[in-house]
Amino acid sequence: MIKVNENYQKLQASYLFSDIAKRISAFQEAYPDREIIKLGIGDVTRSLPRACIDAFHRAVDEMAQDISFRGYGPEQGYSFLREKIAEHDFKARGADISADEIFISDGAKCDTGNIQEIFASDIRVAIPDPVYPVYVDTNVMAGRTGDFDNGRYKNLVYLESTKENGFVPALPREPADLIYLCFPNNPTGATITKEKLQDWVDFARENKSLILFDAAYEAFMRDDTLPKSIYEVKGACEVAIEFRSFSKTAGFTGTRCAYTVVPKTCMAYDTKGEKHPLHSLWNRRHTTKFNGVSYPVQRAAEAIYSKEGKAQVRELSDYYLKNAALIRQEMTALGFECVGGENSPYIWVDGKTDSWKFFDMLLEKAGVVCTPGAGFGKCGQGYIRISAFNSFENVQKAMSKIKQAISL
Ligand SMILES: *Cc1c(COP(=O)(O)O)cnc(C)c1O
Repeated sequence: MIKVNENYQKLQASYLFSDIAKRISAFQEAYPDREIIKLGIGDVTRSLPRACIDAFHRAVDEMAQDISFRGYGPEQGYSFLREKIAEHDFKARGADISADEIFISDGAKCDTGNIQEIFASDIRVAIPDPVYPVYVDTNVMAGRTGDFDNGRYKNLVYLESTKENGFVPALPREPADLIYLCFPNNPTGATITKEKLQDWVDFARENKSLILFDAAYEAFMRDDTLPKSIYEVKGACEVAIEFRSFSKTAGFTGTRCAYTVVPKTCMAYDTKGEKHPLHSLWNRRHTTKFNGVSYPVQRAAEAIYSKEGKAQVRELSDYYLKNAALIRQEMTALGFECVGGENSPYIWVDGKTDSWKFFDMLLEKAGVVCTPGAGFGKCGQGYIRISAFNSFENVQKAMSKIKQAISL
């Protein structure tokens, strides 16, 4: 008899984005003439940088000739891309990461899920709250949690991000073997200092834990005192895996390219307490189950490291950051406490009421769509996330509508 993975039955159906969609269509039916501005979803809106498009086109043309055609490439990614990443994203910031510690993939979302396959199933997992839902759900699927009870999964350690701790969770008071961290954070937009990140690395070293560090929003950081990579922190190479993506950095959400860094010195233990390098386990997993990102996409990604590419990518994130600054400024002026929006495209707003109530108010009175914070976890209740991914004109319009709505 074929049996199902019963862990899937523990999953809470995520009603977040379908609930939002339902409320939007109800609103549109009731008021067909009213304009709606979406500052809800975490997807970019502007086209790929010119340098990426040109490189993309050239690579497609190479595929059209027998002499330059490419079939299967290395599963870990072409060295032209891995070398550039090591040089520009790590060595240039004093992080000693080499090209062969970088694994190119088609997304940080799948990597953060797939990585768990190289760990034992009885480890204790610590996950932030509020959180990017992928971390939680993939652990539920893998059977690393108990049942869902009173808003939380049993057997997970929740790392609470609150106003009191500046949205940077405190070290857990109970053991945790696998720890997820994401900075700049989705959904809060909060960042972490080098000193605080050092505390996490030290905790991991003392407890023989591993940190999974998601740096998908690194390109939005402008405060140069903040760490862009966890490997800028002493000792991190032994206890951390880092995820990066071209999605938000260069508008690759529909093009698909990302990478995972597994330093060769990063270790995990077997039941006898013997050390094993995670690099060889991940290499085995990746080369067995993945056949590489398409050649033209890797060429397009490589182009962000050229002189023009760098300038264009910077312009792209500057554009969204200008939106973010306006959102934060206007919401603050209206009397709402905000975090994020300075080194991040997300603004986390204390709505001073139920998240969904605030969502409904913004939709009905201003025609603006945000994301209710409660959808990201218990600690998100009372907050909304406003995304800067839209045109500046739409953001301006949205803000003046919100201003009108609130002052009514
Ligand atoms: C958008 C996002 C990613 C990127 O995912 P891709 O699969 O590379 O598009 C990763 N982590 C977080 C927290 C994100 O918000």
